Formats: sequence, structure tokens, C-alpha cells
Amino acid sequence: MTNGSADAVHVDERLLGRYIEELGRIGESPDGGMSRFLYDRAWQQARDTLVGWIREAGLEPRVDAVGNVFGRLPGASDRVVLTGSHVDTVPSGGKYDGALGVVGGLAALAALAGSGTPARTLEVVALCEEESSRFPANFFGTRAMLGLIGPDEPQRLRDPDGVLLADAMREAGLDPAAIGTAERHDLDAFLELHIEQGRVLADEGVDIGLVEVIPSIAWETITVRGRQDHAGATPMDLRQDALQAAAQMAREITGLVEQEGRPAVATTGRWTVEPGLPSIVPGLARFSLDLRHPDLAVRDRLLAGVHRICTDVAQRHGVQVDVTREKDEEPAAMDRQLLDVCRQAAEACGASWKEMPSGAGHDSQLMATRVPTAMVFVPSVAGRSHTPAEYTELADCVRGASVLATALHRLAF
Ligand SMILES: [Zn+2]
Repeated sequence: MTNGSADAVHVDERLLGRYIEELGRIGESPDGGMSRFLYDRAWQQARDTLVGWIREAGLEPRVDAVGNVFGRLPGASDRVVLTGSHVDTVPSGGKYDGALGVVGGLAALAALAGSGTPARTLEVVALCEEESSRFPANFFGTRAMLGLIGPDEPQRLRDPDGVLLADAMREAGLDPAAIGTAERHDLDAFLELHIEQGRVLADEGVDIGLVEVIPSIAWETITVRGRQDHAGATPMDLRQDALQAAAQMAREITGLVEQEGRPAVATTGRWTVEPGLPSIVPGLARFSLDLRHPDLAVRDRLLAGVHRICTDVAQRHGVQVDVTREKDEEPAAMDRQLLDVCRQAAEACGASWKEMPSGAGHDSQLMATRVPTAMVFVPSVAGRSHTPAEYTELADCVRGASVLATALHRLAF
């Protein structure tokens, strides 16, 4: 349905509400948390449900070699404007992360299906394994489309139960030998609708976030080696306690990033202490650091500060420290022209908007390396995400999907 005067396309609120509710029951546990992992039963049920909805909406369904689900509205040209997000969840996750971009995109194409034949083809996609909740293969669906899956991955990667990725694919009716056929060279643009997963939009009362950049992430492992000693017989002044030194490092690193202020974030979420007994002074402590900032120069300056802190604290505590880089992602800039189209779409829909960096990582950061890409955020109530408490008001979902539909209309018709 097109509102000619305002040039806005409005999605059907009842349809989108039904999609959110029904998809939110597939993989739901009694506590309301979602667990929908790549190729498992819930994932397969979601795939089959989406294929049915795609057909109902008058679109052409297709499942590619890795299980990405597409709904196609053919245009005069075979070049494709693509929208969508991921359908897998984190363990005990929410009903909106990823899912909203899939069903919002579907509701948008359903609204556009009645507007005649577009100049460019429109597709919606449900991408698989963004979160790497089951296999250490994040962005699996997006990587398949971009031809970035390593030839040995299906025979090498295993889930926590030891199931091989190739066997899980066969279980879901997919042929690992066909992965290469998922590669696409016909994409002109990718738009991803997503919940913010933070509280900026909710706190400021803004309807729509236009993502300018997805931040660079650095992961490091910091290993501190002290001396393992008896907890009763070793005086405090003679100890080289690895955990106390590591805890001091974590505290000072956190202080440094707090001082930098928003949007810099640092998290030390995983800890190992050896030997890990009440009566032994720890000889080894190891912790992870996840540090993010949208500006690579700022991130690297903070990392230099982190390394200085580690050296200083190690010296003061008489311990050894060793830092290894596990992950080093470049920031991904969103496409300026697409952002302008999304901004105009927001204005046509009467929505307030602001440009902002993303807090989390998304399929869009990888897609942006090959295809002009933009992201549209809607508010997350209280900024909650990756928890059953994750929630976005239906009115915000509808507004976001309508902004998406309006942008797709401008891009494809
Ligand atoms: Zn997500």
C-alpha cells in the first residue's frame, strides 16, 4: 500500500505482529528464552514456516545451499536489492534480534508486492548462523553468499556435542558439496533492519537509528603467570599471586576505557584461574578482553594503553604477562547514498531519526565489504538484548519495517 502524497509505504501491522509472535514461539523455552541454532529442529521449523509465509505473500521462495531462505519479487532487471537479517539466536536469547529484520523485510516486500513490477528485483533473506551459537562459523550464511567459506569448514567444524558441520547440513537436507552455488554476484544493495540492542534510541526518544559504522572489535587473551604457593604458609608480602595481578589489570583497563567515555567499551568476560583451589595461591590467571570503538585510531590508542597497564601491573606484582590478539576486525562503514535513502524514507514516514554507530556486530559489517550496505535500527526497551527480556514495541517494529519498505520502494521502483 503506497501513500502517494507522502511517498511512504506502510507495512501491515497485523501481519507483522503475527510474524513476530509465531516466529517467537519456534525454539522458545518455558522461560521465554529463544534457542534456535543452525540446522537444529527449531531452525528447520523456522525455515519451513518462512517458506510458507513467503508463498502467502506472493513472493518466490528459495533455499540456497547453506540454508539461507529467500523470498523474491522479480523486477524488470535481474540486479537485486536485498534486505533481511539472521534467523538463528544466542542461547536463551530474545525474539527480536535478527528475527525482526527477517519478518520486517518480509512484511515490507509483502507491502510492495501489490505495487506492480519493480525496475530492480527485490529479495528478502533469512541468513543462517550469524551468532555462531552452534558452530564456530559466524556469518556463515553471509559468507556463503560472498564466497568466503573455507573449503575445509564443513569437515573441520564441530558443535559442542561433536557433530560435524557437514553432518548437520545433511541432517537439514543440505549438501555440503554444493556450498559454492550459494555465492551471489547480482547484489546491488543490502539493507538490514535490526533492533538497536542498546539504549540510545530509547533514552533519547528517537524512532529510527541510521547506522553509520559498525565498530572495530579487538579480542585479546591476557595470561598472567605468578608463583603457585601454599595459601597458609606463604606470607602476603612474599606472594606472586597471578589472580591478584590479573584482577588489578582488569580494573585499570576498565578504568581507562571508562575515562575515554562513550562509545568505547571494554569487557573482560572469560576467566581461568589455575590451579583453582581455595588453599593454593593461583599460579596462573588468564582473561579475555573485548574492546570496541567505531574509530580504529581510538581503538588502537586504547589498546596501547591496555598493554602499558599490563606491563606496569606485572612489574609491580612481580609476575609475567603475555598478551595475544585473537581477533582484529576493521570498522565497517555503511554506504552514504543508502543512508541518505533511509533518512528520506524515515522522513517520509514521519519518523524521527539520528545517525549513530552500532554497538554490536552484524551481518552487514561483512556484506559492506562487497555490497553497498546500510542498517536501520529501532529502539530496544531499556536497551536489553541477548536475553528473554529483549523487547521492542510493535509500533516501533511497524515503523521500522515501514521505513525499510519506503527505502526499498525508492531503490527498486
Ligand atoms: Zn543480530
